[in-house]
Amino acid sequence: MIVILKHGVQQEKMEGLVNWLKNQGLGVHISEGSFQTVLGLIGDTSAVDMDLIGSLGIVDSVKRVSDPFKCCNRKFHPADTVVQVGDVKIGSGNFCMIAGPCSVESEEQIVEIALAVKKAGAQMLRGGAFKPRTSPYEFQGLKATGLDLLRVARKVSGLPIVTEIMAAKDLPRFEDVDVRQVGPRTTQNFDLPRGRGRLRKPILLKRGLANTLKELLMSAEYIMAGGNEQVILCERGIRTFDDYTRNTLDLAAVPMLRELTHLPIIVDPSHATGLARLVRPMALAGAACGADGLIIEVHNDPMHALCDGAQSLRPEEYASLAEDVRRIREVVAG
Ligand code: PEP
Ligand code: MN
Repeated sequence: MIVILKHGVQQEKMEGLVNWLKNQGLGVHISEGSFQTVLGLIGDTSAVDMDLIGSLGIVDSVKRVSDPFKCCNRKFHPADTVVQVGDVKIGSGNFCMIAGPCSVESEEQIVEIALAVKKAGAQMLRGGAFKPRTSPYEFQGLKATGLDLLRVARKVSGLPIVTEIMAAKDLPRFEDVDVRQVGPRTTQNFDLPRGRGRLRKPILLKRGLANTLKELLMSAEYIMAGGNEQVILCERGIRTFDDYTRNTLDLAAVPMLRELTHLPIIVDPSHATGLARLVRPMALAGAACGADGLIIEVHNDPMHALCDGAQSLRPEEYASLAEDVRRIREVVAG
């Protein structure tokens, strides 16, 4: 249920209503916009007297919200959320470029790539340390050493780091990681979202391989209900019957999610396509359809990459793409 307050309501009157609602066992999410304040009621609202609330002098209207997702619902929070990572902002017109290798392989590799993508305009560095691989015989990432090397690259480049966390037991290791990525294989591992909620640091939540948008939003809801509102959603392609691309990039998800949620939405054209030559057109399309950012794999030696070389751009290809993304953004924002 949402309660829309009249414009210019006094703070103490609003607090009185909020306390009254909380005393009925409800969670109240307050969203103060410049024109409207919206109270989002979370919990069992079946016994709440809508007519009584609607009759209060400070209330403009009351609506039932049937969507199962509440905290991330735009009806609860009409203004776009801006996720802030150091000086970098994502959302509400703040476009963010995240780039780096699939996996951290060595200090030279991650530092060289970090400096190259920074020069091209990337604002954050990605790199896997704990890698979710389909085969147990493939490179599994450098794990804790990989995290240390990301810290080195962050120090040298000044770029915040984005890396995947696969298990709740690893949370203590990730305390100083700027953005924790939750991958498509663990998006519905609900133990982890609860833990992620507690850590209060930005989360990059990827859409599960076969998740509907509602399921993605419900995963975000776990994190937000745990108290962490800093969630970035990522469309990274879904499993369909397509045979020549690694996944199917569902770009319609971007404007659809924009309607449903206030959270920032970014696109990963690398994992969506699996092919470096398709990354550029799909990155441009992602920027054109209104995404808040792009996460792209870049490697200084794709032929010898330990993971996902086929979909990795070389630094100079990334630099040229970043330039064209800026041009598309000007048209979209224009
Ligand atoms: C990644 O971003 O490192 C990755 C493995 O991508 P995905 O989980 O989306 O396949
Ligand atoms: Mn990868």
